Amino acid sequence: MAGVSLRGVVKRFGTNEVVHGVDLDISHNEFVVLVGPSGCGKSTILRMIAGLEDITAGEISTDGRVVNELAPKDRDIAMVFQDYALYPHLSVYRNMSFGLEMQKVPAAEIRERVEAAAKILNIMDLLERKPKQLSGGQRQRVAMGRAIVRRPKVFLFDEPLSNLDAKLRTQMRTEIKKLHQTVATTIVYVTHDQVEAMTLAERIVVLRDGIIEQIGSPDEVYNHPNSMFVAGFIGAPTMNFVPCRLTGDDGNLALSLPDDIVLPVPEDRRHHYAQYRDRDVVLGLRPEFFSLAEDENSVISPRINVIEPLGSDTLFFFEIGSTEVVARTPPLTGLNPGDALPLAINTAKMHLFDAETEKVL
Ligand code: ADP
Ligand code: MG
Repeated sequence: MAGVSLRGVVKRFGTNEVVHGVDLDISHNEFVVLVGPSGCGKSTILRMIAGLEDITAGEISTDGRVVNELAPKDRDIAMVFQDYALYPHLSVYRNMSFGLEMQKVPAAEIRERVEAAAKILNIMDLLERKPKQLSGGQRQRVAMGRAIVRRPKVFLFDEPLSNLDAKLRTQMRTEIKKLHQTVATTIVYVTHDQVEAMTLAERIVVLRDGIIEQIGSPDEVYNHPNSMFVAGFIGAPTMNFVPCRLTGDDGNLALSLPDDIVLPVPEDRRHHYAQYRDRDVVLGLRPEFFSLAEDENSVISPRINVIEPLGSDTLFFFEIGSTEVVARTPPLTGLNPGDALPLAINTAKMHLFDAETEKVL
């Protein structure tokens, strides 16, 4: 049985439709991340699941029961926001216990639940402090603690790490993942950060302008994106897109790129791509599909524009035709802008997209 189901969910604000019929099944205890650029409707979808926002059309259910008409407090869902909205005058303990007190949970059970959550979140020492005596990361933990003690059916997170500095964000990301491994629950997590989506999700839902572009495991959306939008959104540095043409005959189908670069199409893909011959297509190459050339056959030798040494690897920026391209190689020193860099291209990994529809071929 699905933990949370959305069927044809539409949201209009006045005449402005911002969510255009979303269908999504989230399994019991699954960790799903909704990711997409700002304004694509992530928060609106989450707020509709929580009951904080009416839905214009469609159906939302949890555990198989339609909850369209249920008030937020009756949905057994806890939401953690970007701004933690803690009660400033209450201690950490009472911030966490307050909701349970309102529900008239017996005091002994409240203590047990708060302490259990505080242990998981490593905030046992902070229970007597007030929010203003806490760091941003600690406050975020308390906000999560407040959700955990309620033991809801579903956790909703709306960009919970956005206000934290980069280091803390990475730490808390790991904490949230551990949390899901420790406390089995259904989580719907919203972020605009593709790294958070990749690292946290069991399944990623990529949204664009109120429509689901693709649903899949991190591996699927990274390695088998079904559109240029998904391919460009997931992964950093972003996938390179080079306009080109499919040429040649069946036996030696090839990609003709600017600068007279010709890349043979791998044998196992020739049959599939043959139907697109003489069509304008877009070649998608992730930065790691380039490697320092030795004896491989698909070799280019561009002049380097910019070098970015990252320690663990090096990024080289250059142009193919008028397209800026970035390659990621193992750490490499001793090269300067203007030098030629012999690179092989791993065409077995390449993606091809329709230049018009931007969908994968
Ligand atoms: P995201 O969380 O992905 O950044 P939102 O769900 O907040 O996006 O917003 C989606 C779209 O809906 C945006 O265009 C936003 O301006 C609009 N929107 C959100 N809330 C309201 C509202 N209360 N009234 C009118 N428009 C809204
Ligand atoms: Mg939002």
